[in-house]
Amino acid sequence: MAEHHQLIIIGAGPAGFTAGLYASRANLECVIFEGDTPGGQLMITTEVENYPGFEKGIQGPEMMEIFRKQAHRFGAKSIYETIGKVDFSKKPFKLWTTNNKEYTADAVIIATGATARRLHAKGEDEYWGVGISACATCDGFFFKNQKVFVIGGGDTAMEEALYLANLASSVTIIHRRQEFRASKIMVDRAKNHPKINFLLDSIVDEYFGVVQNGIKRLTGIKVKNVKTGDITEHQADGVFIAIGHDPSTSFLRGILEMDENGYIITKCKSTYTNIPGVFACGDCQDHTYRQAVTAAGSGCMAAIDAERWLGENN
Ligand code: NAP
Repeated sequence: MAEHHQLIIIGAGPAGFTAGLYASRANLECVIFEGDTPGGQLMITTEVENYPGFEKGIQGPEMMEIFRKQAHRFGAKSIYETIGKVDFSKKPFKLWTTNNKEYTADAVIIATGATARRLHAKGEDEYWGVGISACATCDGFFFKNQKVFVIGGGDTAMEEALYLANLASSVTIIHRRQEFRASKIMVDRAKNHPKINFLLDSIVDEYFGVVQNGIKRLTGIKVKNVKTGDITEHQADGVFIAIGHDPSTSFLRGILEMDENGYIITKCKSTYTNIPGVFACGDCQDHTYRQAVTAAGSGCMAAIDAERWLGENN
């Protein structure tokens, strides 16, 4: 027998928890599937200083625990499983976990987020969050007057480099070829910036660092020239990987309308997808802003859209 819920939320980052908070306060019976990464991308962030309301900043995992408790306080429940398959062709909607347990729902909110692509070079896991980041807006401030590197040749890499150039003492963009995927205007802007340098035809081969007073810290990288094979060592305080994001939407392919990169398309200024009763919020539908606060905002929108839709249709 399938277990039925009025509203199922898939994903437990700022968007999913905020949707759960608003939905349960609106008296909707709802569950949140927390999936493989309960808490989402903020679980691998250290200090969050730009979420309004936390004047002194807060650790990412601690913030997500507060989000979870706040949603649970009003009745939203978490299920610590991953949804791997859905059938949205008729109502009630059907959803299956990766363990093949079937659930049904009157409405569904997708809040599965996105993951930053990684290079998987030696030392990357070790220094992730203590020198390596995938978000300059989130972590750039910690590298004031320090030497940082940005990996990638797309618009995000240029944008991250330009943002960091206002804070860091120097920014070096490492890109694996000579040509850029980024728009010309962004490349020109980076090239004309006095603090930004380029290392082309190059990839990061290894990250290394030190442990001081029990605290691990990145101090440098080994960079390989892909044409000559030469390896050079560079002092580095921070490395920002900007080689793209992948929205966690593969299980919805062919079911929900998406752009060519797999981001769910939502209608106008709403969270409505192409299927009435299925809503999307957070990074799985937003490749532009990608901030905890914007994800939370769209989670609120999704709950309001779902509540109104359920009111009109059930
Ligand atoms: P992107 O355009 O896909 O660029 C990714 C970059 O990372 C490419 O230069 C790619 O190199 C490099 N890369 C990928 N895998 C790599 C690997 N394993 N090792 C080394 N380098 C690797 O991604 P994005 O820059 O995040 O942009 C995504 C979309 O958002 C784009 O459509 C972009 O235009 C848009 N965007 C727009 C703005 C804006 O308009 N202000 C800002 C940000 C993003 P290759 O080129 O060699 O493949």
